[in-house]
Amino acid sequence: MAQLAAFDMDGTLLDGRLVFALAERFGLDGKVRSVQADSKLVNYEKTIAIAALFAGLTRQDLLAAIESVPLAANCERAISLLKEQGWKVGIITDSYATAASVVAERLRMDFLAANELEFKGDKITGTVHMPLGWQEIGCTCKLSVCKRFHLEKYATKFGVPLENTAAIGDTRADICMVRRAGAGIAFMPKDDDIASATKSVVRKPDMMQVAQLLLLGAAH
Ligand SMILES: [Zn+2]
Repeated sequence: MAQLAAFDMDGTLLDGRLVFALAERFGLDGKVRSVQADSKLVNYEKTIAIAALFAGLTRQDLLAAIESVPLAANCERAISLLKEQGWKVGIITDSYATAASVVAERLRMDFLAANELEFKGDKITGTVHMPLGWQEIGCTCKLSVCKRFHLEKYATKFGVPLENTAAIGDTRADICMVRRAGAGIAFMPKDDDIASATKSVVRKPDMMQVAQLLLLGAAH
């Protein structure tokens, strides 16, 4: 039976966060943090406001930032082991496709859902195109990328029943997909909400622990 695993990128596949790697290079981290803390903004509105902060930076700035963030320990080994066992493996992230595709290619992922930054020539315009999805399925996450919507979309695309899917994430932004997947794993959880949303929690920074749970069928 085919199986499918959807991974969050920042803080899960990566030991770090792209937006902060980029923001810190240009002294924008304070501004990014204040947008993230702004309770007046709905989640996807935060994505719009943060993308606007990066207007004028270049594609090369974005690629240098993603290169500066290391993969989680044993990430390549864990993903290739899942692929060898016939799993479909992909990334569902509210980060930017230009950078996430570098990670997806390195790990030979089968699918990627991410926000698309708009470019004019080589420059980021500050406009972001968001896949959304929550409005179609009645999800309350209101994120720029509804992870549950995309998990369901790729499960359908690859003909994998939802009970044979797994979702792995590290923050409350991943809750809608870890709850929907057959197996949900909180990997190095950054908040209590994600840790309490899954039965399986991995607190060791080692992606092989995730692969082993999945291959043993030990995650629920
Ligand atoms: Zn959602």
